[in-house]
Formats: sequence, C-alpha cells, structure tokens
Amino acid sequence: MRVYNFSAGPATMPLEVLERAQSELTDWRGSGMSVTEMSHRSPEFVSIAAEAEARMRSLLGVPDDYAVLFLQGGATGQFAAVPLNLAAVGATAAYVNTGAWSKKAIAEGRNHLDVRVVADEKDSGYATVPAPGSLEVPADAAYLHYTLNETIGGVEFPYVPDAGDVPLVTDASSTILSRPLDVSRFGVIYAGAQKNLGPAGLTVVVVRKDLLGRARPETPSVLHWQAMAEADSMLNTPPTLAWYLVGLVLEWVEQQGGLEAMAQRNRAKAELLYGAIDSSDFWSNPVDADARSWMNVPFLAPDPALDKPFLAAAAEAGLSGLGGHRSVGGMRASIYNAMPLEGVQALVDLMTDFEKQNG
Ligand code: PMP
Repeated sequence: MRVYNFSAGPATMPLEVLERAQSELTDWRGSGMSVTEMSHRSPEFVSIAAEAEARMRSLLGVPDDYAVLFLQGGATGQFAAVPLNLAAVGATAAYVNTGAWSKKAIAEGRNHLDVRVVADEKDSGYATVPAPGSLEVPADAAYLHYTLNETIGGVEFPYVPDAGDVPLVTDASSTILSRPLDVSRFGVIYAGAQKNLGPAGLTVVVVRKDLLGRARPETPSVLHWQAMAEADSMLNTPPTLAWYLVGLVLEWVEQQGGLEAMAQRNRAKAELLYGAIDSSDFWSNPVDADARSWMNVPFLAPDPALDKPFLAAAAEAGLSGLGGHRSVGGMRASIYNAMPLEGVQALVDLMTDFEKQNG
C-alpha cells in the first residue's frame, strides 16, 4: 500500500511516472537496455535529454534567449555558482532574507563577494515577505537574489520583486512548476529537482543568455553556466537516470494540463489545508496570509508535547513525512504537484479527529 507522503524532499512522485519507469526499467523502448546503462553520448540518451529540455521550456514558457541547464550539486551548488558566474571578485550583490534557505544562500554568497542584505524579515519571525516596491537595490549590485519559496518556513513570494536593471536571481527549488511564472522577469531561476521535478541529483538552471560570459575564470567547470550551456549540460557525465525521470514528470505535468491546471489544483489543496487550520482554534500556522506557501504548510499544535502522538496517529493512517524540519519542530505538510487533493483531505480529516480527541 502506498502512503500519502508529505515529505519536503525527496518527495512524493506521481504513481503513473513510477509505474512507467518500472515498465521501462530493464528495456527502454526496445533499446535492449536500461536508461541507467546507456552512454550519455548515445542517440537514445541524447533524445531523452533533449525532450526533457523541450518540455521544460514549453511548460515554463522559457523564451529563446534563455539557456536551460541540467546540472548537479543541488541548489546548494548554485548558492556558490550564482556569485561565481555573475560577479567579479569584490563585487556587491543584493540578497533578500526570508528565512532558512535565504540564510544559506547568503552565507555561501559571502564566501565570494560583498553581500548586501536589502531586506530581512526577522522582525516578523520570518513569517512575511517584503512589501512590493519596498526593496532598495543598489544600482551597482551584480544581481538581486531571493528565495521564491522558503521550504522550512512555508513563506512564498506572491509577486515578482522589481530589481530594475539589476538581474533578478531566484531559488525556486520548492515551487518550480507549481504555477505559472513569468520567466522574462528573471536573469536566473534555479531549482533542485527533488520536490516538484522528480528525484534528487539534478538541478535545473534557467539563465538569460546575455548573462553568460561573466563567470570568474576560476569557476569550477561543473558550475560554469556558459561552459555547460555550450556542452548541452554534458561537459561531464550527467545524472542520466534522474534526467530521464524528470522528463517523465514533465510529461505528466503536461498531461495534467500544464501550469495553469497545476496552479488550480495547488490552490485548491492549499485552501483546503489553510482553511482547516484557520477554522480551528487548536491548529495554527504562523505565516502572514499574503505570504503563505502553496507547497509547504507548517502547522503547530497548542502544545509541542502533542507532536509525537499526532505523528504516530498520522503514520497509523498512512500519512508520512509530516514532522516539521528538525530546526523548527512542529508539523509540516509538503503538498507538491504530485500530492493529490485526496491526500490533503485525508490529512485534514486526521487533524479534525485529533483536535476532537485532544482539544
Ligand atoms: N533551497 C531550497 C528552497 C530548498 O528547499 C533546498 C532543499 N530543501 C535547498 C535550497 C537545498 O537544496 P539541495 O539539497 O538540493 O542542495
């Protein structure tokens, strides 16, 4: 029996994708071998890679003047790749701090350049995003970096910040493909795959081509966007199986109706869960109503001593991965694209029952 898996990442996958992969695992479409056994230079794998890129471009609406890269090293690798590819030694870059993942990006950025934090949401306990129009970005900044969705805090930007002529860079790891995004507003969008795109091991980077060519000479080649763009992301051996699986997930998203349809489903799921939390005086969510994530929903019981019994009841009911991040405790439901509404309904039913017994 499959459980409803609310893990923040690696995360639940569409069952259809897993079954398709299973059926193709030992013999990919008559090739007589598994994708994991193919040379990354073979025509078969090159076609798998190209198809995934084409699907990513069409789903996300990536304009032609952007490169789409499939890299390794996770979003964490990109925390370093961003300054190395965009800014000279001693340059300044602007960062927005909305929580745990922003802080990691800022800490890595500081290893490579002068970081100017232009907004820090600490006064709200990282329960807010800066007000639209409030950011003052230095004109000489190499870029403005922000975290589109804070996976731990459950804080998501409902708007695209205005950085003027300064290239806008975002970590979209936990929200990419959950709803439409105007790519043309960005210089760079990057995301680890292990939430909405598929398995861990692949990192997608969408970069405006005029920003290629700024990399520091010492940039490691596996993080070097221009070198990777010129080599179709195959400067070295890519994570072939992960790339293939991401391609299957993209095909699945297409079959669901693309990002408008994903957005409708994700909005309905988020409204169901936040609605249940807000209509209860037992459960709570600390995030400002305007900044609540559609993907990661932290929720708290009135007493932390109730966390363990709740998580035990959840496991009993076939609901997995609901423990909050180890740094914050409480509970968190990650409700990515592949989580059906029925899973969220099962969670809400359990929360209602638990409240009746313990409220
Ligand atoms: N940024 C965000 C928003 C994340 O959620 C995560 C992973 N949870 C990371 C960065 C780090 O990603 P990775 O583990 O792929 O390096």
